[in-house]
Amino acid sequence: MRVMARPATSASDTLTLCVSGIVNASLRERILELAPTFALAGSNYSAAGITGELYSFPVNNQPNEEIVIGRVRKDELKDMYSYYLVEKSKPGRSVYDLILSSAPNGICPLCGVGHAVTLDHFLPKAKFPIFSILPLNLIPACRDCNTGKLTAYAKTFGEQSLHPYFDHGKYIDDQWLFARVEQTVPASIRFFVAPPANWPDGDKERVLSHFMSLKLGERFSVLAAGELASINAMLKAYIVGIGPYAVREYLNACTMAELSLHKNSWKAAMFLALAGSNWFCQTGFQLE
Ligand SMILES: [Zn+2]
Repeated sequence: MRVMARPATSASDTLTLCVSGIVNASLRERILELAPTFALAGSNYSAAGITGELYSFPVNNQPNEEIVIGRVRKDELKDMYSYYLVEKSKPGRSVYDLILSSAPNGICPLCGVGHAVTLDHFLPKAKFPIFSILPLNLIPACRDCNTGKLTAYAKTFGEQSLHPYFDHGKYIDDQWLFARVEQTVPASIRFFVAPPANWPDGDKERVLSHFMSLKLGERFSVLAAGELASINAMLKAYIVGIGPYAVREYLNACTMAELSLHKNSWKAAMFLALAGSNWFCQTGFQLE
């Protein structure tokens, strides 16, 4: 997970932009009546995000055609996103573009590896339609992270995946992503979650939920396999002549470099595991 600054655009400004794109006078009027509700929903979301309580909002299981707030149907609230925020010809699109372009180096902040090409609703709009166009609920995401989540939502604190706008501090300062080297031919890497023992149980559960719900273990292993092929070739070509000591020195240097960039990147976990594996440093890197 990569942390991000919260979007600068407010719930009210986003609503105003989206409403200015609505041609149907009746819909425009009925949505505008919700302006105070949208503003309140935005501040409630912000407060809950800070305390890690986004899971506590009531789930909306009403049918699409039912009125859910004021005079507005559930599908109309959901469609605010598709028709007035995503749609390229509409004024609300500027908010979409602003959030998407804020992805750090264009990378998906949820997995830290994919290309951010869409926006993910942290609380899915099918279950929380009032947050369908709330900037704080919209996170740049890659295709894998976005389609993996679909309408899944957390029912407890621990089931929540990490939120790049709110979950800073220990989630990025402490290392919780690790890997082990499998003694296969060629060597392979398996990733796992091991938060510090002194973390509260709920926080431990959250990083595991994040890892599992986005299928990060499988995805990172695929990336590691590709990287290992390069590392093995490099080690064999340049370092094998001066022995295992040099192999470990190189891997330790890579570990330090990756940890200084991101504590919980797959590369940091992989290099740490490689440097700590006697089997890899002595023979593993030479097997193919
Ligand atoms: Zn991703």
